[in-house]
Amino acid sequence: MTQPHILCDAMLGSLCRWLRFFGIDCEYAGVEASDAEVGARAEAEGRWLLTADRELAGRGPRTMLVRSLDLEDQLVEVLGRLRLEVRPDLELSRCSHCNGSLVEQARDQVGEDVPPYVLETAERFKRCGCCRRVFWPGTHSKKILARMQRVVDRLDEG
Ligand SMILES: [Zn+2]
Repeated sequence: MTQPHILCDAMLGSLCRWLRFFGIDCEYAGVEASDAEVGARAEAEGRWLLTADRELAGRGPRTMLVRSLDLEDQLVEVLGRLRLEVRPDLELSRCSHCNGSLVEQARDQVGEDVPPYVLETAERFKRCGCCRRVFWPGTHSKKILARMQRVVDRLDEG
């Protein structure tokens, strides 16, 4: 099953970043785009539009009004309502900064882009195909992983 692709409006920047942690293809509309531009972009790119703005949510069929204010509640709300599949193999597979896909890298491919200590001690590396940032297991703190697990647990409880 292909996962729905998503566009988050300007008010949902954190949600966008966190959906990327789950490996969901999620673009951020940014603060400068007008409502009309955001709506048009979602349609042109075939994305679900997530918005906290009731008026914007009323514009198209593939829009979802995000009602929760708390980030964790928002994640449960969106993943549940869009029936997004949480797949462990996709977790942390996207760049949280730009939504690019992460590609496994060998140690000698990242030498110039990570601190020496990390280069020596980290077990694996991934690089964003778009912005070229390098990630390693320590990049995603235990706090992030614990929060993701709490969301998954809440989804399982229904
Ligand atoms: Zn990136």
